[in-house]
Amino acid sequence: MSELSDLYQEVILEHNKNPRNFREIEDADQYADGKNPLCGDALRVYLKMDGEVVGDVAFKGSGCAISKASASMMTQAVKGKTKAEAEAIFGEFHAMVTGELDAETQENDLGKLKIFAGVLEFPARVKCASLSWHTLNAALKGEDVVSTE
Ligand code: ZN
Repeated sequence: MSELSDLYQEVILEHNKNPRNFREIEDADQYADGKNPLCGDALRVYLKMDGEVVGDVAFKGSGCAISKASASMMTQAVKGKTKAEAEAIFGEFHAMVTGELDAETQENDLGKLKIFAGVLEFPARVKCASLSWHTLNAALKGEDVVSTE
């Protein structure tokens, strides 16, 4: 477990320092704002669809290292995926960070996102890790605001 924790910290710090897809999409089809008042995380997720496929996805905002790293990795995970695939990954991610899915022993397509199983040890951080995913999900559904409160 401590190996996973080390990896978790390393990946979070790296993505926080150098977040991927941290930009606006000017001709976005949809965007949604996510807020986690408990921590102060606030981000906007931009979505550009190419038919049923997530053609481009990006985010802007501010928040703690976990929320930012999670948003960064979320954009990498869903870009190029169909809407249904992105929703499926959201479902697995959500199940993992709430303890319903053991990503090490149960089948899943989380790949690198598995490191966020580390937040299970820090319940207050679960909302930080899942904020960008809830926001993505809202954008996919055409909703524009989501709050984890
Ligand atoms: Zn946070």
